[in-house]
Amino acid sequence: MDKVNLKDLYIEEIEKLLYDINQEKYRAKQIFKWIYKGVCNIDEMTDISKPLREEISQGAFISCPEVLNVQHSSDDTYKYLFGLLDGNAIESVLMKYKYGYSACISTQVGCKMGCAFCASSKCGFVRHLTAGEIIDQVISMQRESGNRISKVVFMGIGEPLDNYENTIKALRLLNNPLGLNIGYRNISVSTSGLVPAILRLAEESLPITLSISLHAPNDRIRNQIMPVNKRYNINELINACKKYTNITRRRISFEYILIDNLNDSEKDAIELAAKVKGMLAHINLIPFNPVSERDFKRSSPDRVKRFLHVLTKKGIQTTVRRELGSEIEAACGQLRLKHEKHKE
Ligand code: SAH
Repeated sequence: MDKVNLKDLYIEEIEKLLYDINQEKYRAKQIFKWIYKGVCNIDEMTDISKPLREEISQGAFISCPEVLNVQHSSDDTYKYLFGLLDGNAIESVLMKYKYGYSACISTQVGCKMGCAFCASSKCGFVRHLTAGEIIDQVISMQRESGNRISKVVFMGIGEPLDNYENTIKALRLLNNPLGLNIGYRNISVSTSGLVPAILRLAEESLPITLSISLHAPNDRIRNQIMPVNKRYNINELINACKKYTNITRRRISFEYILIDNLNDSEKDAIELAAKVKGMLAHINLIPFNPVSERDFKRSSPDRVKRFLHVLTKKGIQTTVRRELGSEIEAACGQLRLKHEKHKE
């Protein structure tokens, strides 16, 4: 029988595991706390007796990703390459902000979405990450860097809502006060627009921020760059977002990459403003980060300014995202899978 990874479990599930070996359930909280302190071995749980640690170890273990590489850029951004137990690798980013540290984490090995502008889609889809592997990125970066992480964005490799159950579990685990205690309001989940999953998420009562990768004001342009739009078109997506905000009363963040001469004209801005007018939402403009295989170019600062101006004049709350980590290919859309099989 395969051993269970304690990092994949809620406290209640650890209690059940203890119950099954005739142990008291209060120990589950002790174990849970150790996991989030970053221990990698059951034997490090020193307030649990050695015989009990041995008994637990017979059916369980604690995963710990191997740090295969860390790159550091001058703007205080770190990109980690983590090796998973099966030899796959994922990337995660740690960024320093005025208020503290923020982690950008992956939810899948590879991605199925195939967006034309994104490096992650180049390598295809390999598998979903487990909840434990998702939160491990935060636990490990916190342990390795010695900095408390207070904010998490699910914007690394993969489509979080395509790995729905594990993403929801990871959110609840990150929020647990006995663990990392990261407030839902400090967590963002980004999706390319899986409509049924957005509607399902609305019912979870998780006051996180939902980001939608919109990137186009209409189906003509969105179909060219995001295959998911052929499944759920822009009006279906906007309607799902309206339902989401009605149910959750949480403001949605629309992400919009500006790509030169593709989606950045004044006409595009006007059309975009009309699409989101009146919604509980704001727009986050992202300068396109060049990905070597693609011939898209980033919009000039003048075009960005004009686009922003049109939206603002139309009364749409809009910001331009600050860029971090571009010199180490750690900026939005640049994470990818370079080490598909690192270990033999
Ligand atoms: N699959 C999810 C989350 C991962 S992508 C999603 O699609 O939202 C995180 C964000 O980076 C998305 O908004 C994505 O569209 C954006 N992105 C991808 N490639 C980019 C690039 N080359 N430059 C800037 N942003 C990019």
